[in-house]
Parts: sequence; C-alpha cells; structure tokens
Amino acid sequence: MSTEPESVAEPDAYRQLVGELERINAVQSATDVLSWDQQVMMPEGGTPARSKQLSTLSSLSHELLVEGSVGELLDDLEDTDLSGDQQAVVREVRRQYVRAERVPRDLVEQISEATSEALGAWESARENDDFAEFAPHLEHLVGLKRQYAEYIDPEADPYAVLFADYEPCLPLSQAESILEELRETLVPLIADIRTADAELATDAFDGTYDTDTQEALSREVLELLDYDFDRGRLDVSTHPFTSGNQFDCRVTTRFDKTDPIGALTSTIHEFGHAYYTLGLPDDAFGTPLGDHRNLSVHESQSRLWENHIGRSKAFWELLLPTFTDAFPQADLSAREAYEATNQVYDENFIRVEADELTYHLHIIVRFEIERELIGGELAVVDVPARWNELYEEYLEISPPSDTMGCLQDIHWSHGSFGYFPTYSLGSVMAAQLYAAASEELGGLEANTRDGEFEPLGEWLGENIHQHGQRYETNELVRQATGADFSADAFVEYVTEKYGELYEL
Ligand code: ZN
Repeated sequence: MSTEPESVAEPDAYRQLVGELERINAVQSATDVLSWDQQVMMPEGGTPARSKQLSTLSSLSHELLVEGSVGELLDDLEDTDLSGDQQAVVREVRRQYVRAERVPRDLVEQISEATSEALGAWESARENDDFAEFAPHLEHLVGLKRQYAEYIDPEADPYAVLFADYEPCLPLSQAESILEELRETLVPLIADIRTADAELATDAFDGTYDTDTQEALSREVLELLDYDFDRGRLDVSTHPFTSGNQFDCRVTTRFDKTDPIGALTSTIHEFGHAYYTLGLPDDAFGTPLGDHRNLSVHESQSRLWENHIGRSKAFWELLLPTFTDAFPQADLSAREAYEATNQVYDENFIRVEADELTYHLHIIVRFEIERELIGGELAVVDVPARWNELYEEYLEISPPSDTMGCLQDIHWSHGSFGYFPTYSLGSVMAAQLYAAASEELGGLEANTRDGEFEPLGEWLGENIHQHGQRYETNELVRQATGADFSADAFVEYVTEKYGELYEL
C-alpha cells in the first residue's frame, strides 16, 4: 500500500466518488439532526410528519448509494493507482455498497415496517410483563434478519454477517474469544467480591439531589473536560445519546433526584463519544476518512472517559470540592465517593444500571441468546427461560419478571442482532488504549487530579480520532498501542482496581 498521498494524482473517478459520498453524507447528517430533534425538542404531535421525513431521507440516501454512479466509479477505481488514503476510502465505500446492493429493497422495507410494529408491541409487552405479546414480532424479525444475512453472504454464519453491520472489520471469532475471556475472568472475580469482608461506603450518595443543580454540575464537568460548547450542546432525553459530526456534536443526559452519579457518569460517557466525533478531521467531512471507525471504537472512547477517568479516585479528588459546593448536604470523602461509584451490586437485573463488572455478564447473556436465536438453536418461545437460566449461571440471580429480564432492552425490537457485543468490546479496547496512553505519557493519574486533560485528549486525537476509517479496527489498535487487540489490559485493570477496593 502506498503511503505517500502526494505522489499520486487524484484520478477523476476518485474525485467524482468523493462528490457522491459528500451528497450521501449530507442526506444522512440531515437525518441525524431530525432524529436528534425528535428525541430532544419535537412536540409529541410532530411524529407523523417526522416519520415521513425520516423514511424519505433514508430511501434517498439508499438510492444515491445503490442507483447512482457509485458502483461504476468503484469498478473504475479497481485498477487505478491510488494513495493509501484513497484506497481506504474505496475499501470502506465498497463494503457499504455491497451490503446495500445485495439486499432487495423490498426486504429493507419489510424490516423497517416490522421494526416499527415490534417497537409498539415491545413497549406494551414490557409494560404488561407479557412476553407473549412481543414473541410473534421477535420471531418475524429473526426470520427477516436471517433472510437479510443470507442475501449478503449465503455461505457465512448469519450471525457473523449481522455482527458485521456494526463491526465490519473485526472477525466474530475474535470478538467471541474476548467475550469468553471476560466471562472466565469476571464470574470468579464477582463471586470473590460477594464473599469479601471489605465494607465499602455504598450509601455515600443516599439522599435527594435537586435536578437543576445536577444539570449545572454536568455542565461544569463538561467544561472541565474541555467539551467545546461552540460545537456542541447538552440537553436532556430519556436515554442519553450523542449525535452529530465534527462541526456540531451534541450530547444528552438524564437526571434522577436520587442518583446524582447516574447523571454524572452518563454525561461523561456521552462526552467521550462527542469528543471522538469532534476530533474527526474537518477536511474529510462526508467521506470515510472523516467518519468514525465503528461501534467498538466509538464505545472505547466513551468508556475510557467514563470508567478510567470519571470513576477514578483521582477524578473524585478533583471533583469533590465542586460537588460539595453544589450539594452542601453531601458529607463524604473522595475515597467514599470512589467506593460508592464503583460498588459491585449483589443483585441488579438491569443492564443500564449495572456496575463496571457485572455489566459484561449482562452483555454475554444477550450475546449467547441472540447467537442461538439467529443460528436457529433457540426458539423464540424459550427466550425467557434461557435468559433466566443464564442469569442464574453467570450472576447467581433470578429475574423476578420478564420486564426486568428479557424485555428490558429496546435492541431486539429494532432488529439489532449483533449490536450488544460492541459495548463490551468497547470497554476492553478502552482499557488497552488507556494503558498505552498511560505508559507513553506517564502521570495520567496526577493529571486527572489536577484537571489537566489535554495530554490524554491529544494522545487520543493523534492515535484514534484523526484517522477516521483510515485503518481497520485491529490495525488502528495496533498502531495506537503497539499490541494486538485483546482482553489483557482489561483483565489487569479490573483485577487490580477491584482487588484493592474489595481487599481481595
Ligand atoms: Zn456509548
């Protein structure tokens, strides 16, 4: 692969391809703004018009990709001498193009209709704790998604094909072995923690916390982390999320009177996503070089800030005076705040409320079930029983209802099979990146204590953000850390952190 972009002229076909990509991206990023508005600002009555706008734009971007000149241009570029960056753009666009082109339009529309019906059924099933209401929709979606995978690659494991929608360049076998290592590390570690004698200050944040003050505190934390409010916003939504591009990337969070830590960690998590997006190169906007790598890499950025900074002792030493200024009733030390923030729950059924360790077992349960569903080894009707069986096996808890069990997540009603593993892969990658940055820069803990986040920010910018999709995932991690992507750093991180916390 050529690594000297200057030495290769920009062929006409390449220039035309970039023009097409910029148009497609303009449609997609307009869609993002409309979705953000729908979740944050839009009055409820706006739904019928918004649905129409979004589905029209989605068809339009699909048409631009599949029916325009993109396919021809990609073929033209096949035998052209291209620079390394140009080759990366062609590689990424080809992958998208092939996926979009192989699946019949009719099936895409069926999936879209089935998911909007499934969403309503899921909401109702969850409310009534009645899995039977959701089951036919789930069954329909599993069938459609298997067809979808079959169109893309009839030879491949259908789950691997679906996983590649979110992780296009990470082999499923590698993801699987990382998750397996997590399970083998975490199941005994959590069991040890449950029988440990250490008494953590688990109730250090008990009480009520005014939500306006919580919001002001979230803003202060974002300022502290150097979030650029000229290119961003903080708003409130039911489920925190981040949306945007390198010129305008917005975060949301949520506030709960009794849980000030939930809001803080959500805000910091979303900050990590936004900081990545804002760090993508401006001049590559609209092409793969100006777009994020994939979900595990995105999640590595949010988890790095949330867990390695936001949940650290050093961060609490920094934040405590600000926190107690905002909430004078809070009477706690930085150590107590650290312990409360990192406690491992004895009995928690809900993934989004999980601690840093049990979280991954929640993910592994979903991963195993969706693999079995897509692989045809598990019938939809048996999902609740399988769910409870795996919770018993890995976490030694029995969900009291399907609402608190297999009906808790929205993902399957969206037809998103293969998405869950990216959350855990992101945490694992975060640990590897943080360890490498730490080794290279030194003194990261002292920096956090001093509120000095620039060196870490620059390191991430240089090693991850500026590359967009220049490298495939494994290559990106190797370039950044000098090692293959693995669970080693994560295992070391949790063993050390929780060993100290629980005196193991
Ligand atoms: Zn995230």
